[in-house]
Amino acid sequence: MTNIFNLEEAPSVEIFGSKDRFPVRRIYCVGRNYAAHAIEMGKNPDRDPPFFFTKPADSIVANNETVPYPMRTNNFHHEIEMVIAIGKEGADIALTNSEDHIYGYAVGNDLTRRDLQLAAREQGRPWDTGKAFDFSAPISAIRPAKSNGHIRKGKIEIKVNGDVRQTADITDLIWSVPEIVAELSTLFRLYPGDLIYTGTPAGVGPVERGDVMEGYVEGLGTLVNKVE
Ligand code: MN
Repeated sequence: MTNIFNLEEAPSVEIFGSKDRFPVRRIYCVGRNYAAHAIEMGKNPDRDPPFFFTKPADSIVANNETVPYPMRTNNFHHEIEMVIAIGKEGADIALTNSEDHIYGYAVGNDLTRRDLQLAAREQGRPWDTGKAFDFSAPISAIRPAKSNGHIRKGKIEIKVNGDVRQTADITDLIWSVPEIVAELSTLFRLYPGDLIYTGTPAGVGPVERGDVMEGYVEGLGTLVNKVE
């Protein structure tokens, strides 16, 4: 038997300093993981257990590629985030082992149709239309932990047209990287190819056609995408 049509190959992300690529299986995202952003979204900044949502693997956008302004929104927001790339399978991963499951890290932008997300939130509906649309997950090249180390601190920032919109430090994460991996793995068995967007600091805001977003995480370089 053969399939009646062919799907595209798995989407993949560039690996820094290599010709090899990282195929993407799933994209998980953490909600409200910086206290100041929880407050700006009208929510409690306490250390409640993290919550997760997903985006389709084919929503990734490479560094320097353009992002089309999405349909059905008048409030399209940037969210700078550090991304974890999973390299080893596991469920119920112990906190002490969780870094062993990480292949590397990248700079990400959890693009959001804020009007649709907030309308869904207010009505107790799923966030998919606000979060999981096409071209909603820009990501830079992945830097392997083996050669580049684990990212436990350092500046995270995004500029729009050269103006700083969000700035914080990775140490401001409410749930640290090892904690995110351990907690997520109690809900889903993680596999190589999974990406985890770790949450955004305060300062989210709208972008318009023609705007250039330049994300940065110390140790991971920049992620530049123009909205068109
Ligand atoms: Mn986010």
